[in-house]
Amino acid sequence: MNGDKRVIEELRESVCRLHAELVRYDLVAWTAGNISGRVPGADLFVIKPSGVSYDDLTPESIVVCDLSGDLVEGSLAPSSDTAAHAYVYRHMPEVNGVVHTHSTYASAWAARGEPIPCVLTAMADEFGGEIPVGPFALIGGDDIGRGIVETLTGHRSRAVLMRNHGVFTIGESPKAAVKAAVMCEDVARTVHVARQLGAPAPIAPDDVDSLYDRYQNVYGQRSHR
Ligand SMILES: [Zn+2]
Repeated sequence: MNGDKRVIEELRESVCRLHAELVRYDLVAWTAGNISGRVPGADLFVIKPSGVSYDDLTPESIVVCDLSGDLVEGSLAPSSDTAAHAYVYRHMPEVNGVVHTHSTYASAWAARGEPIPCVLTAMADEFGGEIPVGPFALIGGDDIGRGIVETLTGHRSRAVLMRNHGVFTIGESPKAAVKAAVMCEDVARTVHVARQLGAPAPIAPDDVDSLYDRYQNVYGQRSHR
């Protein structure tokens, strides 16, 4: 196996810890949802094992896969979404973390196949516009991964609502991808609530641009344009 042993150990630890954030922010039910992280300098990533309860996750239970999605190290089977994560890492070299959830409000938008419109400054800050919808895709092959990559390539949003399914987010680190998943659910809920009493007011495109630019600079994150 290529990849520094200590680097992989540290990544397993941090990815294991980040899974607790999905529970803390109420983004997952039962064993649904998963986080992965690319191993720096190697064609590998670490990911949650399949069907393991969040309470039972340990750094040792996090498995290591190659970029084809095949298990390289670990005693458990990798997440059933591993092929999708692997596809993203193969096609988006700038991505180092991927998160998947079925968080309630965001998945409700996905069930309708409706993008979340940019009607909050927090959305302009984090996503630089609307959160787009990706195609309907069955689990198992490359279809989900291809849908994520095709939807997010050239898009400022790091979150995509996969139609009738749920949320995938990407980030320059696993933590950044988790943040995007938390923020995606937060704005999905707020915009849903706003809809109950009328039509939310859009933000002018110029204002979206300046909010996005300012936020990305203030927080020192790389521009994705
Ligand atoms: Zn799913």
